[in-house]
Amino acid sequence: MHPLRSLILGAAGNDVIRRLVATAPVSRDVVRRFVAGETTADAIAVTRELVGKGLTVTLDYLGEDTTDEALAEQTVQAYLELLSGLHGQGLARNAEVSVKLSAVGQALDEGLARDNAARVCAAAEQAGTTVTLDMEDHTTTDSTLRVLAELRRTWPGTGAVLQAYLHRTELDCARLATAGSRVRLCKGAYAEPPQVAYPDPHDVDRGYVRCANILLRGDGFPMFATHDPRLVQIVEARAEALGRKPGGFEFQMLYGIRPEEQLRLAGRGHTVRVYVPYGVQWYGYLMRRLAERPANTAFFLRALASRK
Ligand SMILES: Cc1cc2nc3c(=O)[nH]c(=O)nc-3n(C[C@H](O)[C@H](O)[C@H](O)COP(=O)(O)OP(=O)(O)OC[C@H]3O[C@@H](n4cnc5c(N)ncnc54)[C@H](O)[C@@H]3O)c2cc1C
Repeated sequence: MHPLRSLILGAAGNDVIRRLVATAPVSRDVVRRFVAGETTADAIAVTRELVGKGLTVTLDYLGEDTTDEALAEQTVQAYLELLSGLHGQGLARNAEVSVKLSAVGQALDEGLARDNAARVCAAAEQAGTTVTLDMEDHTTTDSTLRVLAELRRTWPGTGAVLQAYLHRTELDCARLATAGSRVRLCKGAYAEPPQVAYPDPHDVDRGYVRCANILLRGDGFPMFATHDPRLVQIVEARAEALGRKPGGFEFQMLYGIRPEEQLRLAGRGHTVRVYVPYGVQWYGYLMRRLAERPANTAFFLRALASRK
C-alpha cells in the first residue's frame, strides 16, 4: 500500500485526529466538498442544486458494517425519510438511492438485510424512483447478488454493482446484462487478496474495459462509475461503436470529484449521475476519499492551514 494511503487510513482510526477534524470550523467547508451534510435537508438541498445543473443523483446515507439491529433500523428510517422528501420536493425522477446491505444488517443476517432493503425498495417505488445495492468486500458478493435477485422479483429496476478488480466479474457482467437490468461498473474500492482480485491497476483497467464491452453489448442498462479520463473516453467510443445512444447508458461520479467533467459529459448529452453521500458518519468516507488521491489530501491540508 502507498505510504501516504496507509498513513491516512491509520489516521482514520485515530480518535484524537477524528475529533480534531470533526470540530475544526474550517473542516466544515472541506468536508462539504465531498459530503452533502449530516441531515436529510442537506442531502435534498445538494440534490436540488445538482439536478438544477442538469445532473442526476444517487444518495448514500453513510453508515456501514452495522452489527446492531437498532442501527440497521435507523438507516432504513433515514432512507424512508429521504425518499419521502425527494418525492415531496419533486426530485425523485432525477434522484435514486444507493444502499449498502452491511448498513441494514447483512453481517447479522442476510434475511434481515433483504427485508430492510425491500422496505427501502418499496418506498423508492412509491416515491417514483429506484435503489442500487452498493457492492462491498468480496466476502459479501454472493450474498449481495442473492439479495439483488430476490429484490428484482418485485422491483426489477433495482440496480447492481460489479467491481472490475474481481476475477469473477466478467462472468457476473454476462449474467446480469439482461433486459431492464441496471448495472453499475466500478473498479472496486476494498483491499482484496490476489486470489480474488487483480493487484495490478493496469489489469483492473483492462478488466474494466472487457466488462464495459460485455455490458454495452448486452441488453441491460450499464452505469459506468469512474473518474478515470481514459476509461471515460474508451466507454464513450465503445458505446458509439456499438450503437448505444447517450441515454442508453450513464456515467457516474462521486460528489466533489471532477465536477467540471461531470458537467462536460452532461453537456455532450450523456446522463451523468452524481453519488452524494450524507449523514453523521461522514468521517470514514472522507478519509477513504483522501487516501485514494494525494491531491485531495493536499487540498484538505491547505484549507486547514490557510483558514484557521
Ligand atoms: C458513482 C460511484 C459509485 C461507486 N460505488 C462503489 C461500490 O458500490 N463498491 C465499490 O467497491 N466501489 C465503488 N466505487 C468506488 C470505485 O470502485 C473506485 O474505488 C473509485 O471510483 C476510484 O476509481 P476510479 O475509477 O475513479 O479511478 P482511479 O484509479 O482512482 O483514478 C483514475 C484516474 O481518475 C482521475 N481521478 C481520480 N480521482 C480524481 C480526483 N479526485 N480528481 C481528479 N481526477 C481524479 C485521475 O486521472 C486518476 O489517475 C464507486 C465509485 C463511483 C464513482
